[in-house]
Amino acid sequence: MQSISPEIIFRGDDAWEKSLPHIIQLTKSPLILGRSIFTDNLRSKIFADLKNQNLTVNSARLKFDCCLEDISKVKNIILNNNHDSIIAAGGGKVLDSGKYIAELLNIPCITVPLSASTCAGWTALSNIYTKNGQFIKDVALRSCPKVLVYDHKFIQTAPSRTLASGIADALAKWYESSITSSTIDDGLVQQAIQISRVLRDQLLIDGKKAFNDEFKNISSWRNTIEACGLTAGLVGGIGGEKCRTAAAHAIHNAITQIITPNKFFHGEIVGVGLLLQLRIEEMKNSNKLADQSIKQLLVLMKELNLPTTIADLGINVFENQNLDKIADFTCRDESEIHFLPFEISKQDIIDVITNFEQQKIKI
Ligand SMILES: [Zn+2]
Repeated sequence: MQSISPEIIFRGDDAWEKSLPHIIQLTKSPLILGRSIFTDNLRSKIFADLKNQNLTVNSARLKFDCCLEDISKVKNIILNNNHDSIIAAGGGKVLDSGKYIAELLNIPCITVPLSASTCAGWTALSNIYTKNGQFIKDVALRSCPKVLVYDHKFIQTAPSRTLASGIADALAKWYESSITSSTIDDGLVQQAIQISRVLRDQLLIDGKKAFNDEFKNISSWRNTIEACGLTAGLVGGIGGEKCRTAAAHAIHNAITQIITPNKFFHGEIVGVGLLLQLRIEEMKNSNKLADQSIKQLLVLMKELNLPTTIADLGINVFENQNLDKIADFTCRDESEIHFLPFEISKQDIIDVITNFEQQKIKI
């Protein structure tokens, strides 16, 4: 069984307004889920618009992350108030929580991404973290959200940093899927990999222009936000589980185990993981193109003001056994790192990260 995409997608300016007649057919008593106070005004608009349609509306806020504590709290609010749907309006953590809770309660989930930072509004997947943001596991869901509302006007209000993060996360699709899945004899998987290549090319061409677009309105901005929020999700949907992640995400998951005072976005950490994955390919798989890819990606990542080392994420790997902790988590049995088509050991990860971080310090 494979759920390729949300049942219905509304996209563009005024997508929210256009989705309203459909949403009122689907639900009479939705719960609106969010997290950041910076997007409260957008959720207030969603709340007011639904109230105007005579729906019984309530709202809830995640306190921490997409974690079991928040999930159970929101689940109880829905049960106690007989809500018949969940509208997750926010970033990746809110969207992942909404999808997971909807699946647990067997009610429809409507995703309304408020930035282009991930493709979580599309996918049938939730990442579960601890209260402190440490990755625990991926949960494959039965289906993608019932409705995805990708309203460009909402996304225009998000800081450019969220777009940079979305670009890094979407770029990883090609580098991860092409190495893990190019030998899989399945037409859909192969086509998904090809889409991820076109997606990467588009981001290399348009990413910088989109990031620097002050008014967030030119076609490269629109193409880029849709690439990050929609196309990246489509790749996951068509390609299925094997086409998703490899070392970049495995290293992301490991880096989140180190708690730091400043939180970084998912894609920002994945971007660093992606550079490390390419170094691993160079070292363990004699991939001569990897170094060129790193140089090409570094140019864009610098232009997008993205972190490019673990040190940039506020972590000194040479302190507090951090390197050991990251290498351990990266290589645990259930890690996606083992989707790589060659053996990888904890010592390999230690060597690659040590080289990588020391090289950077010299620069
Ligand atoms: Zn990701």
